[in-house]
Amino acid sequence: MSGTKDPGLAKDPGSESTPGMDPFADTLQQLRESFISGRTRPAEFRATQLKGLSRFLRENKQLLQEALAQDLHKAAFHSDISELILCQKEVDLALRDLHIWMKDEPAAKNLITQLDSAFIRKEPFGLVLILSPWNYPLNLSLGPLVGALAAGNCVVLKPSEISKSTEKVLAEVLPRYLDQSCFAVVLGGPEETGQLLEHEFDYIFFTGSTRVGKIVMTAAAKHLTPVTLELGGKNPCYVDDNCDPQTVANRVAFFRCFNAGQTCVAPDYVLCSPEMQARLVPALQSAITRFYGDDPQSSPNLGRIISEKHFQRLRGLLSCGRVVIGGQSDESDLYIAPTVLVDVQETDPVMQEEIFGPILPIVNVRSLGQAIDFINRREKPLALYAFSNSSQVVNQMLDRTSSGNFAGNEGFTYLTLTSLPFGGVGKSGMGRYHGKFSFDTFSHQRACLLSHSGLEMLKNIHYPPYSNCRQKLFTWALGSHSCTLL
Ligand code: NAD
Repeated sequence: MSGTKDPGLAKDPGSESTPGMDPFADTLQQLRESFISGRTRPAEFRATQLKGLSRFLRENKQLLQEALAQDLHKAAFHSDISELILCQKEVDLALRDLHIWMKDEPAAKNLITQLDSAFIRKEPFGLVLILSPWNYPLNLSLGPLVGALAAGNCVVLKPSEISKSTEKVLAEVLPRYLDQSCFAVVLGGPEETGQLLEHEFDYIFFTGSTRVGKIVMTAAAKHLTPVTLELGGKNPCYVDDNCDPQTVANRVAFFRCFNAGQTCVAPDYVLCSPEMQARLVPALQSAITRFYGDDPQSSPNLGRIISEKHFQRLRGLLSCGRVVIGGQSDESDLYIAPTVLVDVQETDPVMQEEIFGPILPIVNVRSLGQAIDFINRREKPLALYAFSNSSQVVNQMLDRTSSGNFAGNEGFTYLTLTSLPFGGVGKSGMGRYHGKFSFDTFSHQRACLLSHSGLEMLKNIHYPPYSNCRQKLFTWALGSHSCTLL
């Protein structure tokens, strides 16, 4: 277990912990003391941390690509576009705009406070815990980390124990690039994470399943710790009769099969008319063959299922409805073929749980209204997709539903925009991040009013004894003359 001298290096509580001992206490205590010392607050310190993160990404590019390939059979190109480049963009943006984000924000004033200074100070929360999942194990660890460091927090990162190769690089290499008195990686599965969550943090940022999200929020509630929960769910994809099936099929197949379907924002199921289904299925077959060849298992561009457990779960889903494309699986290779299912019932298991694999069920609806009703009767999804040549149809879907994110005639390309907040709503999560939204998430907005000791005349109007005249004057002064002078 961890020594106290190197708080930044990975702690594996399972390896050396003594029964009855708290394996995290020393590390957390040291990080908290670093925060209290004020070390992480100056802009220069934050920038140095971010530069360290940037160097980590650049100097270990190949190591990270190899780790992601080992964990998920990710092609280097996929790792670049969905993990490394996105992280690098986040770091670059934070380094460029940190001084703007950190600036005090002037607030409007009334007559009583006219000569005072009113502003919002963005201050770090303190000790932050980041818990990340295995499907984009680098991006979903470093993405939040950029925001937490930019905001001046001390951070404990607990990567997923399931994506083992990436976990190893994060644990053994990343801390060398950061100030280890302010950052630590800890290791562990559900049991150790449960122990970790007994400690008090100032903020918890969790990405993972809705089931574990509830465990995290319950633990956080004991300490009244604020949380961001980036969760999952079933993302509907409506395909209108008025659209080109091949264009839709290309986009849906690509985003469904990306990372072997193990993407929280992947289109989870298609809603369309039986007529569109008849045109869409051959177009999906054509797209899948174009992307992955006649034998997708031999394609270097198709990922694998993360574990035996998830493979068995997905294989079970292949018996729902009728397979019209794919359906093959190979346990020895954790391979599930890109698969399309039709004649699926709402009550089938494939429509009851988040699929998280390269399987796409099609459910028939008769109209846009019926599709909207279908979506609104279920939990609010993390993402919602609508395909139509008619902007009216896309806009109706947007106006009459709710989801964390929405895309018309496109997949999850919105993730490449740091200008858009990313997060769920309802059961798909709470809070948002990316770009400046990450900095804001990890910053407490402190309301500040700095007055002068010599303005007693002005303050006199709210002291007793009260009179009607004073009350009128005070009410008038409170409500009028707002301006944003600092
Ligand atoms: P998970 O919830 O099983 O695990 C996430 C993290 O929680 C891991 O670090 C894990 O070690 C820890 N954990 C697991 N069980 C725990 C327990 N009982 N107590 C405390 N901690 C525990 O999720 P996963 O399987 O790693 O990832 C897949 C899920 O994550 C999917 O539901 C997916 O939709 C969701 N996800 C969401 C987003 C998003 O941004 N909204 C992104 C990626 C994945």
